[in-house]
Amino acid sequence: MTQAHWEQVKADMRSAIGAGNYKSWIEPLTLMSAAEGVAHVAAPNPFVGDYVGKTYGDQIIYHLNRQGMSVQRLSFEVEGGATAAKPATAHPAPQPVKTQAKSNDAQPDQRFTFDTFVVGKPNELAHAAAKRVAEGGPTTFNPLFLYGGVGLGKTHLMHAIAHELSEKRPDLNVLYISADQFIYRFISALRDRKMMDFKQHFRSVDVLMVDDIQFLEGKDSTQEEFFHTFNALVDQNKQLIISADRAPGEIRDLSERIKSRLQCGLVVDLHPTDYELRLGILHAKQETYLNVYPGVEIAPGVLEFLAHRISSNVRVLEGALNRLYALASLVGRTVTVEMAQDCLSDILRASDRKLTIEEIQRKVSEHFDIRLSDMLGPKRTRSLARPRQVAMWLCKQLTSRSLPEIGRKFGKRDHTTIMHGVRKIDELRQSDSQIADDLELLRRALED
Ligand code: ADP
Ligand code: MG
Repeated sequence: MTQAHWEQVKADMRSAIGAGNYKSWIEPLTLMSAAEGVAHVAAPNPFVGDYVGKTYGDQIIYHLNRQGMSVQRLSFEVEGGATAAKPATAHPAPQPVKTQAKSNDAQPDQRFTFDTFVVGKPNELAHAAAKRVAEGGPTTFNPLFLYGGVGLGKTHLMHAIAHELSEKRPDLNVLYISADQFIYRFISALRDRKMMDFKQHFRSVDVLMVDDIQFLEGKDSTQEEFFHTFNALVDQNKQLIISADRAPGEIRDLSERIKSRLQCGLVVDLHPTDYELRLGILHAKQETYLNVYPGVEIAPGVLEFLAHRISSNVRVLEGALNRLYALASLVGRTVTVEMAQDCLSDILRASDRKLTIEEIQRKVSEHFDIRLSDMLGPKRTRSLARPRQVAMWLCKQLTSRSLPEIGRKFGKRDHTTIMHGVRKIDELRQSDSQIADDLELLRRALED
């Protein structure tokens, strides 16, 4: 472990969370040592350590591992002798803060259970499949392959399976491991000439879960070993649960043999969250914060605002709520929408979906059942002109494009034509409830 690695981790964090957050939270940290899976990090005061652990712990661990360090946990300590710069914290004197960040090893995370997993349309199949496996009955599909974008709940579901199995089937030997860890252990075993132990270890489990196997991309010898382990277990009817950030067929450099074996089981994906699911998750999270931040209040509309504006990644959503609570408890004020806008501006900006003029035009022409070429063409009959103006209005409202730019995309029309169209719709919205409904419907469809 070198300081150069740590500098790289900080640089990665900077690009991930933006300069502002970086300056407040990551820059002040120093990596002191890393051993036995624990990275000891010095923070200027307990509040920073606590906050960073909760908000960015996962990300820091991830980047440390990307730098070749095997770290499963962060331990924050207050810099020796340095007095906390901000006396505002509740702690009278600098003292170590033990923050348990998410671990990659066999211990399931206490927070990730089925009870805390909110089910909605986008994840109901994955949830049902996970539940089935967690019953610990005879294997019906093997492996279970869960895939989906970052922060959609794959790891959560795997840990939930581990929890439930440990209650229902304590006799079973359940092993959860990230592919990173699998690679690390494999390489260590090779180095230390302990391949027999390694094989023995993985082949004696009853349920094996390997998380994030996209990390096996390009790692030929580890893949080979993974494949043997995999086959040995499946042949014995032992349950395998595997996750990746994409479908088996889309993982580069994964051998065809592995791909086809993976596809033999049940492949289910976690879809990006929708508004309803996000709101459900925020409500559930809020409950858990009641004890952590007693007395902190959130104004009506704030959760809806977050669910509406923040991208589908649940980790980002949680991070946002967490940051709001942390700030509210520091300043002792009720969290309002304005405050959320202010303190989450970086997250909001990053997750602003870039809606294009073309998408809007397509959606509107579908909605009114006209041809896209007619919407962009010169004809001015009412049945075409109205939808065209609706599309112009939506482009003005939902994108940051200027009127001349919008005009160019509407068959090279002049910006005054766009302005006229936008005004026309503004008027009609007040007087014509049909148009108002259409606009609302389209806006929602486009923004979700
Ligand atoms: P992934 O492994 O797919 O990247 P995680 O399982 O780590 O995602 O989830 C990221 C965070 O979001 C975790 O804190 C997890 O508890 C939370 N989360 C994701 N989906 C849900 C859900 N449906 N209900 C509750 N929390 C969720
Ligand atoms: Mg994960």
